Amino acid sequence: MVNEDEIRELWDLFIMQYGYNLKISMLSEKYPEERSIQVDFMEIQEFSQELLESLTSNPEETIAIGEDVIIKKFPEEQKVEILHLRLKNIPDDRLKEIRKIRSKNIGELITIEGLVRQVTEVRPKLVTGAFECTSCGHVNYKEQETETLEFPVFCEGCGKKKGETRFKLLEDFSVFVDSQKIEVQENPEDIRGGEQPQRIQVYLEDDLTGIVVPGDRVRITGILKTRPRGTKQFPSTIFDIYLYAINVESIKEEYKSVTLTEEDVERIREFAQDKNVIKKLSDKIASTLFGLEIEKEAILLQLFGGVPLKRRDGTRIRGDIHILLVGDPGTGKSQLLKYVTNIAPKSIYTSGKGSTAAGLTAAATKEEFGEGRWTLEAGALVLADNGIAAIDEIDKMDDKDRVAMHEAMEQQTITISKAGMNATLMARCSILAAANPKFGRFDISRPLSDQLNLPPTLLSRFDAIFKMPDVPGDMDARIADHILDVHMEKEGEQEEIDDEFFKKYIAYAKKHIIPKIMPDAREELKQYYLRMRNLYNQTSAKSIPITARQMEALIRLTQASARARLSNIATAEDARRAIRIIQHFIEDIATTPEGTIDIDRVMGTIPSSERSKYETVVDIIKDLSTGKGYAGEDEIVREAKVRAGIDDFELRKIIQALMRDNIIFMPYNGRYRLIE
Ligand code: ZN
Repeated sequence: MVNEDEIRELWDLFIMQYGYNLKISMLSEKYPEERSIQVDFMEIQEFSQELLESLTSNPEETIAIGEDVIIKKFPEEQKVEILHLRLKNIPDDRLKEIRKIRSKNIGELITIEGLVRQVTEVRPKLVTGAFECTSCGHVNYKEQETETLEFPVFCEGCGKKKGETRFKLLEDFSVFVDSQKIEVQENPEDIRGGEQPQRIQVYLEDDLTGIVVPGDRVRITGILKTRPRGTKQFPSTIFDIYLYAINVESIKEEYKSVTLTEEDVERIREFAQDKNVIKKLSDKIASTLFGLEIEKEAILLQLFGGVPLKRRDGTRIRGDIHILLVGDPGTGKSQLLKYVTNIAPKSIYTSGKGSTAAGLTAAATKEEFGEGRWTLEAGALVLADNGIAAIDEIDKMDDKDRVAMHEAMEQQTITISKAGMNATLMARCSILAAANPKFGRFDISRPLSDQLNLPPTLLSRFDAIFKMPDVPGDMDARIADHILDVHMEKEGEQEEIDDEFFKKYIAYAKKHIIPKIMPDAREELKQYYLRMRNLYNQTSAKSIPITARQMEALIRLTQASARARLSNIATAEDARRAIRIIQHFIEDIATTPEGTIDIDRVMGTIPSSERSKYETVVDIIKDLSTGKGYAGEDEIVREAKVRAGIDDFELRKIIQALMRDNIIFMPYNGRYRLIE
């Protein structure tokens, strides 16, 4: 197939003509710290059809010859053991869809794009083993070609065979290379409605290891290889395919997948001029579901999102908007979730129950994939980085996710620290979640957190929570009206926007529009906040109608409203839209049977009258933990009595509530600590 001498000549010529001699001599100075040379694929394409053909159909040999040619150009006295010829700048038209990889592609050069789903630890792999013969002491070198350790067949010193003498591996004289295995899955936007994303395993070596984390978007070029399933003794006739990586490039560009033509941009800008643009867009959301105007408007704003803010101290306030829909099964929650997944760039639909160990957040596991190594696997929120995670049945998530979700929703990162795997994964996504009430139906006399299998601390991280309405009495009439409306619209003017256009519109807005809040909008928000806070002082119930969290939500929604209009200026009208949404949420969820509004009904089960005691205990544990990291039970009992007159019995109740709400935990018996 490959005429070695010809290929050798072609590489030689290529190196000369395209100025690689200089690059090689620069590399030789940095060798062995640097041992990869990047070769531009486009240049090869331009240089020779023959070399290109050989490279694509027989990459392993062609690259090995190229590496050999390069090594020969190193200064003679330099010892070169490992050198990599890496191919960069592969043209887009050579990209292969992961789902289209077949056995006929085995041995070929393949370039894929996707999301890194899991990575193993980086571990050394033996490339050349130095084996000492225990009979004569001669050191034999044996190249390792498979995954099981291969000993020399006979000793080159005394000639004894494998069974007649023993060989001892000398690690110091052997050559090792770092190795890592990763799994890449198709980009969410490349998957057509409802299909499961396809995945491929990739083997990385040497300087390609340790550079990607789960959630990264990558373009990988490699050689497609196979190996039988099963063990060495009992190999299977079923083969696994994998990519042996030649190069790994990170893709940083957001919304790269949505390509906009000049015509698209013109249409988008024109459409944004419409005064009813927000109404028109939110009517598009799950248009077969009638009513729910406010809910749909909130979800629309979520698709655009607010602007993240980096404070001077380095902390970051998210711009992403989180929304929770609560209601009995069959109230259209799933329809809304699925529609959003369809329309939002980079979105993922998942269930709280999760189909993998990683679940919603991430997990470090020691499963088959890692071949004995620890594996770090990304969950839905990491895979939806920079997009939207639509989570059905979020109340069914497991304990690991319950703990990690706090960080994921606020800091938008997921920190994993387990068994030598330390990583902070990005989870900068908006969450649209759905949950079912525990007892089937809402009970207005009970706080929301009592009725959901979710801790109040998590509930408080949603910008808005909506109850999905029960079947109303006049449903038939409303359905009839709605169907008639939809039909008349169809018969009348042509549909202005389709899903494809909607998607492009969102991608354009998110990329180009960064709204600023104008003074009149600011005043509008401030006045609303003060008005709501004043209610607190006027009622005898001492309920809390609004907190700083809702203020942040208002800001995000105001920015999102401007963005949805493609405006860099958030006006009083945008602020009023945000206020309408928050007011609806507060009235819907936080109204007490007495008719007052108490946001604590969302955040916790603790009535306002007992709030101070609850907070006092948190303060006590915080104070006592300073320095030693925990608070002892005896100390807490003493302090609680002194500071707030809380007796043993009451204290026990409060501590139980704090543990249940994931605010404190007990690392050792009788010792308590705050969960940050
Ligand atoms: Zn020997």
